[in-house]
Amino acid sequence: MALPVSVLVVEDEPAILELVAVNLEHAGFAPWRTASAEEAAQRLRQSLPDVALVDWMLPGQSGLALARRLRSDARTRELPIIFLTARSGENDKVAALEAGADDYLTKPFSPRELVARIRAVLRRRAPQLGEQPLEIAGLRLDPGAHEVSGNRQRLELSPTEFRLLHFLMTHPNRVYSRARLLDEVWGNDAVVEERTVDVHVRRLRQALAPSGHDALIETVRGSGYLLRTGTPS
Ligand code: CA
Repeated sequence: MALPVSVLVVEDEPAILELVAVNLEHAGFAPWRTASAEEAAQRLRQSLPDVALVDWMLPGQSGLALARRLRSDARTRELPIIFLTARSGENDKVAALEAGADDYLTKPFSPRELVARIRAVLRRRAPQLGEQPLEIAGLRLDPGAHEVSGNRQRLELSPTEFRLLHFLMTHPNRVYSRARLLDEVWGNDAVVEERTVDVHVRRLRQALAPSGHDALIETVRGSGYLLRTGTPS
């Protein structure tokens, strides 16, 4: 049920782009193929990937300039960036890291190394939600297995409802505005509107209804939502 890890690939040489993308697909990732910094920026305006693989030497804007641009924009500041490059000089590595790269891979690289580096970067940047199973009043969420159960009855949640519930269960008894939930659960995705939160809360309640755990999620009029660990007073 978990969404595959999405990887933005920016590489102007078609053969390398295809090689990288195919290897990412084999590893279970979802590659987004782009051939220039401009194309990548356009793709990023639609939605954000989990990680970006950026070739240093690109026609037009360089990979280094793209990395600087991503780091200076609040929306993309946290996006992990790995450089792909034929350069291996010490000065180049320093420049890449100063531009905000999280890692640096020199061509030619093995597909296994590429995948291992991506996994390492994602682990370092893992969301604060964690992998620990959570349990509140008989409602259990297991991030590792991507499973939710209510009183031991399996409940079916879509990926978005799962993330929403995960966030609420790790931050119980506090009211969160729609805007804040968008930031935390959707990661600043510009295409999502605040009323989308209402739709997903409604779906989450429907998913939790079979075990009665929909009652844990309260609407706070004019403020937002909260998940209560006990009976409201
Ligand atoms: Ca290139």
